[in-house]
Amino acid sequence: MPKYPYGKRSTDLLSQVDEDLYDIFMDVGDLINTTILPSTIRTVEEQREFVRTGRSKTMNSKHLQGKAVDAAPYPVDWRLDKELLDVVKDALEDGFFDKDKFKEILNNIKRWYEFVGIVKGVAEGQGVSVRHGRDFKGFLDLPHVELKE
Ligand SMILES: [Zn+2]
Repeated sequence: MPKYPYGKRSTDLLSQVDEDLYDIFMDVGDLINTTILPSTIRTVEEQREFVRTGRSKTMNSKHLQGKAVDAAPYPVDWRLDKELLDVVKDALEDGFFDKDKFKEILNNIKRWYEFVGIVKGVAEGQGVSVRHGRDFKGFLDLPHVELKE
């Protein structure tokens, strides 16, 4: 059991992925409180819906083969770059800069990138080649990690 134990849903999801990914996330759970997102395991119908709504680019997703995991630092905070830009936009339009909100969102972005770095570092340490959603061209998918193969 990792230092930051996974909840029941996360444990169920991890039990359905490739052993290499399972091992990576057991070690990640020793370093940072993590949750595994339900989008980790998908049916073909669910994948079709992901593509239709623009959340995925391909029907050839590794999520259909247990070779990808969507995970997030827990508790999950989805406020990222777009929200940061909104604070700046508000400041420009209304002349009021919400410094606290800006810092909060900035810290959340840092936390996400720290999480992505931990996952990457653990995978490298285990000698497993992975590809990150962070590295997708023109499509930022921070929770995503998949086996390269
Ligand atoms: Zn994914």
